[in-house]
Amino acid sequence: MNYREVKDWLVTNSGSFPDWSNSRYVRTMNVLELFPSFEPYISGKSYSGNDIFALKWGGGPIKILAWSLMHGNETSAFRSFGQIDYFLRSNQLAESLNKRVTIVYIPVLNPDGAFDFIRRNHQEIDINRDARSNQTEEMRFFKSVFSTFKPQYALNLHDQRSIFGINGKRDGVRLALCIPQVSVSYLKSESLEYNRNSLRQIVNDVFTNVNYEDLALWSHFDEAYYSKAIGEWMQEAGVRTLLLESGVSGLDYNRSESVLNLSAFILSYFFLLSKKDDSGLCTPSSWELPKNEPLLRDVILRNCQVNRDELLFTTDIALQYVEYLESGELKYKLVVDDLGDLSDLIGRQEFQDISIFASTSFKIGQDVPLDIISQLNLNGLQEL
Ligand SMILES: [Zn+2]
Repeated sequence: MNYREVKDWLVTNSGSFPDWSNSRYVRTMNVLELFPSFEPYISGKSYSGNDIFALKWGGGPIKILAWSLMHGNETSAFRSFGQIDYFLRSNQLAESLNKRVTIVYIPVLNPDGAFDFIRRNHQEIDINRDARSNQTEEMRFFKSVFSTFKPQYALNLHDQRSIFGINGKRDGVRLALCIPQVSVSYLKSESLEYNRNSLRQIVNDVFTNVNYEDLALWSHFDEAYYSKAIGEWMQEAGVRTLLLESGVSGLDYNRSESVLNLSAFILSYFFLLSKKDDSGLCTPSSWELPKNEPLLRDVILRNCQVNRDELLFTTDIALQYVEYLESGELKYKLVVDDLGDLSDLIGRQEFQDISIFASTSFKIGQDVPLDIISQLNLNGLQEL
């Protein structure tokens, strides 16, 4: 099945997806119950003693390793796999896939961070910067799955912040893709070069059947080399690794559309891999995707008259939504992000000529006072 066919099927069947896959924060993460198509493969413990599970589906020769929630507040791919799991147990064509691929999936690589909805683990280490030093239980667990399973392909799944956009537009990004880089010392390695070109071609094949509305919101993430990140480590280990980041499009802060795009992408990618003939030459190709750029802010107040300590000045002000947990529920609040001439940035929502009295608490990083929020006619997130 190609992207378009998978997406149509998912849209038609979306009423049957598990409820939890619609929520950006999932408190209960008993993954053995959440992904019934998969069977337990390997388990381990996090720094704070929570279970980490690797699950397995299929029995074919093409081996794919995928993981999500390496960063505990990036739930989109975890939610996508809820939809993928439903597809795998409900669509007849999954049977042919089952004989061709074996998927090992680690739904929650960072269970401590995921429970608290924070990026890092409980040592306050960013697991995605621990690929060389292996100082976290979570990375050591990942490496044990890696060496047992020996994958040929990998899906490194993350979210990105709402600051990213494309083509100078306020529409945001649904999916950002990149093929992690290898260090200069490997650049002449023909096999690693082949791997990256081959992956680029398979992804190009996915693009062929993506509808215009979705493709218009996909971007190419910068392929700078991060030596400490797991994607680079995997690529250098000879595993064809693709990084996918789910972003915010429009005012879809729950990322429902991004999750759906990601599910359709991953499933159509599995179908293409299942048919892959690995013999033959692979010509270098490129992607016709716009560059992922950090040019957006959630709210920008243009030409704002500020009265602070009886001094008047005119400035642009950027405000950003921050996600936080309160009594186990995900909430959003607006914080002051930047002041000054912000003519190089674009607001997802913009307001002109607002006058504000700025108290001493009106500072970068602080909550936006309610009397200022009440002057704005905000769309999208009303629970502030
Ligand atoms: Zn991440």
